[in-house]
Amino acid sequence: MNPAASSRALETLRHVFGYDAFRGEQAAIVEHVAEGGDALVLMPTGGGKSLCYQVPALLRPGCGVVVSPLIALMQDQVQALTQLGVKAAYLNSTQSNDEAAAVERALVGGELDLLYVAPERLMTGRFQNLLDHAHIALFAIDEAHCVSQWGHDFRPEYIQLSVLHERFPEIPRIALTATADDATRQEIIQRLALADARVFLASFDRPNIRYTVVEKDNPRKQLLRFIRANHDGDSGIVYCLSRKKVEETAAWLRGEGMRALHYHAGLDASTRESHQTQFVRGDGIVMVATIAFGMGIDKPDVRFVAHMDLPKSLEAYYQETGRAGRDGLPSNAWMAYGLQDMVLQREMIEQSQAPDEIKRVERRKLESLLGYCEAAACRRQVLLRYFGEESEPCGNCDMCLNPPQTWDASVAAQQALSTIYRSGQRYGAGHLVDILTGKATPKVTERGHENLSTFGIGKDISATQWSALLRQMVAQGLVGVSEHGGLLLQEECRPVLRGEAAFQARRVRESAPSGASSVRREIEFESDEARTLWAALRQCRRSLAEEQEVPAYMIFGDATLKLMLEKRPMSLDAMYQLSGVGDRKLEAYGMAFLEVIQSHQRQHG
Ligand code: ADP
Ligand code: ZN
Repeated sequence: MNPAASSRALETLRHVFGYDAFRGEQAAIVEHVAEGGDALVLMPTGGGKSLCYQVPALLRPGCGVVVSPLIALMQDQVQALTQLGVKAAYLNSTQSNDEAAAVERALVGGELDLLYVAPERLMTGRFQNLLDHAHIALFAIDEAHCVSQWGHDFRPEYIQLSVLHERFPEIPRIALTATADDATRQEIIQRLALADARVFLASFDRPNIRYTVVEKDNPRKQLLRFIRANHDGDSGIVYCLSRKKVEETAAWLRGEGMRALHYHAGLDASTRESHQTQFVRGDGIVMVATIAFGMGIDKPDVRFVAHMDLPKSLEAYYQETGRAGRDGLPSNAWMAYGLQDMVLQREMIEQSQAPDEIKRVERRKLESLLGYCEAAACRRQVLLRYFGEESEPCGNCDMCLNPPQTWDASVAAQQALSTIYRSGQRYGAGHLVDILTGKATPKVTERGHENLSTFGIGKDISATQWSALLRQMVAQGLVGVSEHGGLLLQEECRPVLRGEAAFQARRVRESAPSGASSVRREIEFESDEARTLWAALRQCRRSLAEEQEVPAYMIFGDATLKLMLEKRPMSLDAMYQLSGVGDRKLEAYGMAFLEVIQSHQRQHG
């Protein structure tokens, strides 16, 4: 971009959004689109896709038209832009005819900077005619993977969007998505006629997210400990597989004094909406949900995502955990996982009516997922490799922070295999561990298993290590799982059984770790004084948000609030220096926060 244009882009970034610099590929994308080029942008959630079309739309004459599949997202974006002083509006089915007509007039009258529309609206003849009479800066196609039939949220209306190119060939188009795989990418290019578009592929790493997997022991307690130790007063999402478990877990957390809500597809629409709004608007609510929750939640300050059950696949896991830390601040992705989860997933695949080739794909996906759960080294490397990216050990996952110890479990593995064999290859891990550690439970004695030669043979190894060992043997394919959840020998176990191959196992921690010890608190308070100011700043934000009826983060994000805490600006000029404080927000909210800081300093200075 010529220097003048590039400084105009930076000025817009500074004045409107309050940011000092573009991130990663943003500068190149903004330049390319502002100059009229087409672009396909592949960037992870939280990467900063919105600015890639919002800034060019402000730089180019006319209105930027944004195609967006989710009504809730549209409304959020328009609200956030309005807070920034940008003239933004949306057109969707929630509006009355009068409201829609007013927006249409504003579009044709050249009064809008950005207009969000649902794809089905965009394709109507009426709207196309309207576009003929308006001045259009660009078309942005958000969530562009919706055009892919193989993807997870196919929208038939998206297919027709290629018409834009035919009808308005001179207007630049920018398609954006967080779905990176090559097949989807090719489909987007082909279906949206973007063959000549420049492709911007960002790294899919989310460096601010810390990944942790803990061995399931007492999962609810582990969850509680994890939240208490790391996320007191933070917003977070807890995913469970079933609706029942969602409700039970939320009720339990509430009983423990947490502000927890539940969400699943079985709730009536108004409860769902009310819970979702409370979560998005509020500050510090834990949402316990099935995966029905999350799509279209753009809340930037979700500080943790916890999985109480295995996700469907690594893609799903990455998407779900990606909802944490969009604002770039340190966040946690935490999962409790145990043998039972693995058994359940295997059963679900084997018992499904799906054709064999689908089952094969599902088995492979499960293997990748287990590879992540059972990783013996950096988890981020496993994740990124799955998406085709090579990387160095990250230093910000449980494996990097607490490298696992391994032990030579060859003999123990033989003992476990022989116990499985001698008890008839039909018992689950719990029972097998009881035999190995010599626990004469009723089930053991009823079946005469205290007479097996391996009864009590592994007393010197704890039950925790035995179940971890069994799980690792299943994960590596030495042991299989029957339809009924019993463990059975696989061909692959022979070399170990015969003593021809060694088996290295990962030692797990004895006291069910919550992952807590290793995770830094997100905002570290140096003193009670700082904690007091932080609470006052949040209180100020909360009351402004309630007054404006917008989510708290739309007043100022956590990142900006944290800067106020650190820098203690004592004038509007100093306030304006902070990232996230643009012209409009300085004017609207600067004084309110300044007064909080000044009065605090007077009392503590
Ligand atoms: P995506 O749509 O890719 O998930 P967003 O556009 O919502 O990401 O951006 C994520 C967060 O990062 C938002 O809170 C946004 O304000 C912030 N952000 C984006 N670009 C920048 C930047 N250049 N400097 C500071 N913050 C940014
Ligand atoms: Zn790592």
